[in-house]
Amino acid sequence: MDQTLEPHVLVFPIPFQGPVYCALKLAELICLSGIHVTFLNTEHIHRPLLRHTNVVSRFNRYPNFRFQTIPDGVHGDRFMEVMAAVDVVTKPLFRDMVVSGTLSRKSERPVTVMIPDASFPFAVDIAIEASIPVICLETVSPCCVWTSYLNLPTLIEAGDVPFKENDLDQLITSVQGTQHIIRKRDLAKFCRSEDLSNPVIELIIKEAHAISQAQGLILNTFEKLDSIVLPHMRKLCPNIYTIGPLHTLYKAQLTANTTSSQEFTISNSVWKEDRTCMSWLDKNDPKTVVYVSIGSLATMTFEQLLEIWYGVVNSGKPFLWVRRPGSINSGYDESHVPIELLERTKEIGCIVEWAPQEDVLAHPAIGGFLTHSGWNSTMESIVEGVPMVCWPYSADQQVNSRFVGEVWKMGVDIKDTCDRVRVEKAVRDIMDSKPNVFTQSANTWANLAKESITKNGSSSIRLGRLIDDILAMSSTRS
Ligand code: UDP
Repeated sequence: MDQTLEPHVLVFPIPFQGPVYCALKLAELICLSGIHVTFLNTEHIHRPLLRHTNVVSRFNRYPNFRFQTIPDGVHGDRFMEVMAAVDVVTKPLFRDMVVSGTLSRKSERPVTVMIPDASFPFAVDIAIEASIPVICLETVSPCCVWTSYLNLPTLIEAGDVPFKENDLDQLITSVQGTQHIIRKRDLAKFCRSEDLSNPVIELIIKEAHAISQAQGLILNTFEKLDSIVLPHMRKLCPNIYTIGPLHTLYKAQLTANTTSSQEFTISNSVWKEDRTCMSWLDKNDPKTVVYVSIGSLATMTFEQLLEIWYGVVNSGKPFLWVRRPGSINSGYDESHVPIELLERTKEIGCIVEWAPQEDVLAHPAIGGFLTHSGWNSTMESIVEGVPMVCWPYSADQQVNSRFVGEVWKMGVDIKDTCDRVRVEKAVRDIMDSKPNVFTQSANTWANLAKESITKNGSSSIRLGRLIDDILAMSSTRS
């Protein structure tokens, strides 16, 4: 006889700062609607999260929320290293959990809907095997998912990938909707691989397949921002929930649901934030400071560090720079830094190991962002109307930086270059002579982003639909 199952969502992010950060916000939004949520972290990411954040006390207020962890055998931090370890260690354990263990039909509280990161295609397969409805969470940008993930088979069939010639400026005409925008150099970085059996390409092909198998896809964007690619994506996955900017929608919904006595500082960072930079920012005039950060995974060589450093210093703008430990390949040796650079930095710079980035970007002193174009960073900059200099590193960043420069006109894309003159000019271009084309577009997009999360905004409506669909999917499992 069928038992009646209470709605219970499993959120299962890939173990990296950006994706976990998005997934936590999504989980809390689902909790606010009263639905039970289990947040499954691999052990590798759960440890630093407990050490550096208040997630446990924050989520303690939801009796319908619980954290669960799963071993991962991870030792390093590199993307494919982590994913390979998870594939060997986590995948079979996860299958047992879902098919016969603590999340299964036999458990006290069976999972009724699964929301894994789309980069865990095995989780989609296991959900289907266990007849659990599954909705993928995609934390990379829609412009990348469309051009480089969902279209990867098309690109391969058309002979565009692997690249045959070295002309990276050639337009890619086989992808619908972006024929006049995307050049070879703007596809996701893995498209530059000469080898189709490269593990990243294999993972992306599986990911694209998983997205098409799932009952829905959650994206961190708002309808107007991605109006070029969303209609094309909907032909392959009709049920898309655009609930971005997720961090802003989250703050709005939390404020609406929280009494003043329950105020919480929100921090989801897996590194300790250094808030001293906020008082340093207070000392600077509005829109004068350039913020420099390459996120949680990107690295640069010592030579690239010097070029960017000179470029920023020569622009004459005060700067706040996040130098994440380990982000300089083969280490940082101050004795090799020209003394003039160190002295000028003392006068106009502030360097921290990790910053409260959302607060930094919202600070009135910030006038520009030199970024690696990670999708979270890009969305955070869009919401605050901060123009960008884009120096993409990998993953979706090559595509994001192209859209920032060519589609949203919110900044300058300097991909595949790293020289001080170019950096200086790009910083001046986005920050000198206000208002300029970049600040104007940035303001327009910031207003549209804010509109999307109002009560009747497109993202609020999509979130409501997601909650309704979770309830409906759960009841059909009963
Ligand atoms: N971030 C932060 N402090 C920093 C640098 C980054 O809190 O000093 C946060 C940032 O706000 C963003 C995330 O780390 O939410 C980075 O995600 P993104 O997608 O931009 O890049 P990734 O780290 O995944 O490459």
